[in-house]
Amino acid sequence: MKPENCEEQPGRLMPVVDLNKCEAQGPCIMECPHDVFDLKAISREEYDKLGFTGKLKTLVHGREKAHVVKPNQCHACGLCVTGCPEKAIKLTRVA
Ligand code: SF4
Repeated sequence: MKPENCEEQPGRLMPVVDLNKCEAQGPCIMECPHDVFDLKAISREEYDKLGFTGKLKTLVHGREKAHVVKPNQCHACGLCVTGCPEKAIKLTRVA
């Protein structure tokens, strides 16, 4: 999808990052036209919930992960989904 197709009303869909898959490479941050993501250190609680491979990836990539910091700004263009090389992002309907 192209940015000009990013016309969905914000607040209907939001991205969810699979922290087991995220390698903190940051294309979602660069692709998102609405600054929905930021790279931040994973919390101890988040780390404890990861599987073995997720923990290994986390340690290799300096404990940083993409986090959704402005979920209400998502316009559902899908650029983050298609841009993530780890296929770690899905869009989900806001409850
Ligand atoms: S779909 Fe992804 S890239 Fe598009 S606005 Fe939402 S968070 Fe940003």
